[in-house]
Amino acid sequence: MVSRVIPVEPFDLVIFGGTGDLARRKILPGLFRRFCAGQMPPDAAITGAARSDMSEDEYRDFVRDAIHEFGGEQNHDEDKLSAFLECLHYVPIDARGENGWRELAGLMRKGMVHAFYFSVAPGLFGDLAERLNQHGLTDEDSRIVVEKPFGRDLASAKELNRDLAAYFDEGQIYRIDHYLGKETVQNLMAVRFGNMLFEPLWNSQYVDHIQITVAETVGVGGRGEYYDKSGAMRDMVQNHLMQLLCLIAMEPPSKFDPDAVRDEKLKVIRALDDVEPHHIVRGQYDAGDEGPSFREEVGDPRTRTESYIAMKVGVSNWRWAGTPFYLRTGKRLKARCSEIVVVFKALNHSIFGEQEDHRNVLSIRLQPNEGMTLGVTIKEPGPGGMRLIDVPLDMSFAEALGKDGSDQTDAYERLIMDVIRGNQTLFMRGDEVEAAWAWTDPIIDGWDTRGDVPKIYDSGSEGPVDAVQLLARDTRVWRKVAS
Ligand code: NAD
Repeated sequence: MVSRVIPVEPFDLVIFGGTGDLARRKILPGLFRRFCAGQMPPDAAITGAARSDMSEDEYRDFVRDAIHEFGGEQNHDEDKLSAFLECLHYVPIDARGENGWRELAGLMRKGMVHAFYFSVAPGLFGDLAERLNQHGLTDEDSRIVVEKPFGRDLASAKELNRDLAAYFDEGQIYRIDHYLGKETVQNLMAVRFGNMLFEPLWNSQYVDHIQITVAETVGVGGRGEYYDKSGAMRDMVQNHLMQLLCLIAMEPPSKFDPDAVRDEKLKVIRALDDVEPHHIVRGQYDAGDEGPSFREEVGDPRTRTESYIAMKVGVSNWRWAGTPFYLRTGKRLKARCSEIVVVFKALNHSIFGEQEDHRNVLSIRLQPNEGMTLGVTIKEPGPGGMRLIDVPLDMSFAEALGKDGSDQTDAYERLIMDVIRGNQTLFMRGDEVEAAWAWTDPIIDGWDTRGDVPKIYDSGSEGPVDAVQLLARDTRVWRKVAS
């Protein structure tokens, strides 16, 4: 199957932090892939802007190396790479200084979409917005892209929102959660709202519970100092897992329109119950074959930050009251996998007499092997009576759709193209972010007040034993963490 590529209008994109890790690994290689796909027009211009004192040629060499390392299978097309590098500029700039701004303003062409990607520490967002305004770069066609973390609590998120709102309308602010750019995540909406099959069953009458898992095999590694100030709750739950929960739980929007979708997501966040302390399990990985312990990696033997969290969450609305959502995420786990599992209720009555508990289970896999599986109950083949077994109706996107079905388009490049097109559907609105923090803050405050200490779990395991008990108390079990 060949995907249709619709080129975007020519644009001027400025990447503040254009020499940083994110630009090198994701943003620039992603733009190159869009260029090769014909989506980024050759008369678009990309300007790296960062503190390093580099010439334009040096920046092009830097980008060439980044693409060789992270560009994927297209990185060998040297002709295309040379043409792409022609689109690049570089301006040394300090977000808090005066140098470089006039030069940057001079590069912005009239009549183009101007996009400014803030791939820098959030402490600089306000400064960048102010400088852009001072230099006349905040017209109605300009837009800004801001990276996570968007605050570390409600107060700081509000402050960031205020700093940006001083110069930009909400319609110009694109808060990135790269999970929303994943193919399967968008497919969640297509599956729910594009099929007759699922929506009538999508409620507490038919759904027993939902599990959302984002498991990583890596530890915090060199990011220990940063991560120790954040933890799994701030780093993963408040944004990525919350967004997945919203897409699963939200009411159908009246149309596929940015504000209609985001209004419905916001309603879900506002309907989340406060979480009881005994419905949360936090953990820290121990040392193992994979590397040192979490405490060693963050350099604090007494740290109370969690590298793992599992929780039971209720959504108090007409559709979901009584159906728990179990969320878990952690580092140094047994396998890398992100999965949403919808477990339907057992039949009220079986005409086949005593049988094991058979249930339909819809599993939506974000990574690896993006795809969906629907577990259905059938007769076990062969003679010997009517014995039932569960088999998966399997749909791997890569197999079903060829290479276009798998995540060849990285989330970042898809989202950047949406920025240029002016489509905010897959970006978080300011009130969504604030509502998510308003729900998260009391949970974190509770740990601090009580002095809760995370449980230690084995590296390479499925997490702390207490997480198993969290579901066992409800006579349920987690899905295996498996790739
Ligand atoms: P980095 O430290 O590798 O790069 C920071 C960039 O900011 C550099 O280009 C540096 O020159 C520039 N910079 C620093 N101070 C500046 C100043 N005063 N004026 C102008 N430029 C300045 O950081 P990174 O990993 O690329 O992350 C950038 C942002 O993206 C951060 O907010 C981070 O939290 C977020 N983020 C990164 C990743 C990732 O995978 N690296 C993932 C998600 C979010």
